[in-house]
Amino acid sequence: MKKYILALDQGTTSSRAILFNKSGEIVAQKQHEFPQIFKENGYVEHNPEDIWSSLLTAAREVLLCKKLNAGDISSIGITNQRETTIIWDKKTGEPVYNAIVWQCRRTADYCKELVQSGYSDMIREKTGLIIDPYFSATKIKWILDNVQGVRERAQNGRLLFGTVDSYIIWKLTEGRVHATDYSNASRTMLFNINTLEWDNDILKLLGIPKNMLPEVYESSGDYGYTTLIGKGKIKICGVAGDQQASLFGQACFNKGDFKCTYGTGAFLLMNTGSEPVSSQNGLLTTIAWGVNGSITYASEGSVFVAGAAIQWLRDGLKIIDSAAQSEPMAISVPDTNGVYFVPAFVGLGAPYWNPDARGVLCGLSRGTTKEHIVRSALESIAYQVNAVIKSMEDDSGIRINTLKVDGGASENNFLMQFQSDITGCNVLRPICVETTALGCAYLAGLKSGYWKNMNDIKDNQKIDYNFTPDISESKRDFLISGWKKAVERTTI
Ligand code: ADP
Repeated sequence: MKKYILALDQGTTSSRAILFNKSGEIVAQKQHEFPQIFKENGYVEHNPEDIWSSLLTAAREVLLCKKLNAGDISSIGITNQRETTIIWDKKTGEPVYNAIVWQCRRTADYCKELVQSGYSDMIREKTGLIIDPYFSATKIKWILDNVQGVRERAQNGRLLFGTVDSYIIWKLTEGRVHATDYSNASRTMLFNINTLEWDNDILKLLGIPKNMLPEVYESSGDYGYTTLIGKGKIKICGVAGDQQASLFGQACFNKGDFKCTYGTGAFLLMNTGSEPVSSQNGLLTTIAWGVNGSITYASEGSVFVAGAAIQWLRDGLKIIDSAAQSEPMAISVPDTNGVYFVPAFVGLGAPYWNPDARGVLCGLSRGTTKEHIVRSALESIAYQVNAVIKSMEDDSGIRINTLKVDGGASENNFLMQFQSDITGCNVLRPICVETTALGCAYLAGLKSGYWKNMNDIKDNQKIDYNFTPDISESKRDFLISGWKKAVERTTI
């Protein structure tokens, strides 16, 4: 019996390798950060070699630290920073340019042109996405247009494109497999989420040769094997983008299941079942995963500034010493004393979609203390998340009764209780908050027979705390109406 699943979690700032046992518990983990490349013009890049070497080192170390061999590992699951774009030479593996990171806005002008030329509806219908530099498509076009000789080499079939998962699979299999999974493909803005194929019309519009693109496989599937970790072969059986992996890791297998990751930003995904739900509120439609021959779709919304508002209290205002300190300070006062904080530092995302909005702190009086401000910052995270939840409920007609949470700021009990109060739903925090890595481990283990089926996985779920709503309807309405007024004040 193989002992463990090896999850490879390739994130934006670090690469991690985590061993999970049958109960879904972490047995060992290793992590390596790698350099962020910020260029003068605001471009954000990673060196693909750094991505690869940090991940491979972490993977080798985690096996070594437990004195394990390839034979002890049932399979590998991969989860990754999404949308980040790499193009490399088919023969030599040499990248033609740095990885263009999801955060990089270099293609903003071109995206504006596409919108002005009227392509928004077509792109939304085919890909479920809004036209934005965030997604891979315009990043690929940028490399083809701006790096000398690349377009010609691509047309001659000598180059390959991949999101980070594809690049890692290709490296792990030493060039034998060029593939991605449905969840990652659906973030490229080139994949038709209805027909489940790369879309010829969009490829033509952007001038991207189809022969560069990876095969698209199920998220729980056969991605070949590697001999580079431990002595022997390990199969690669699970792949999903980070947010979708965390939806899976939270065992959100049924239509209406919902998770929110509270990190720097907040990422919300709702399982919408076997049909894509198109949004009236500017949310994204995406593929959650392909497992056992069927596709599951999700609705996605994000809050740009969540935990980052707490970082700002610490590093900008300097009124707290640590993020954790925000909790005792918030509960030391009974309420915010009428203060609302809207941390629209970089505009507001779904459902407000106001790029020109800026932060607002309002309702101040002589009685306002730093405790009130700290509390209002935590509350702002919950109000923003609540607004996304309400939009998803609107779009799908599904009423949420349980929100599963993870991410750094989900440790904050005050915030979780306030979320439960404001949204009027249960908030479930699992013991294992490494849900992203766990999700890809589950996807891999399902394919390699480590776990029998989804029920087997559900049985693994261990709850740390269940927060239940504890305010009156009228109090909730009063608080939310104050928030809405504060949001109106963000346009200067
Ligand atoms: P990311 O993956 O985006 O880097 P993490 O999941 O590591 O984020 O979470 C870190 C974020 O959570 C930071 O923005 C930090 O301010 C916030 N955070 C961490 N702990 C707490 C806490 N106890 N209360 C509120 N915010 C917190």
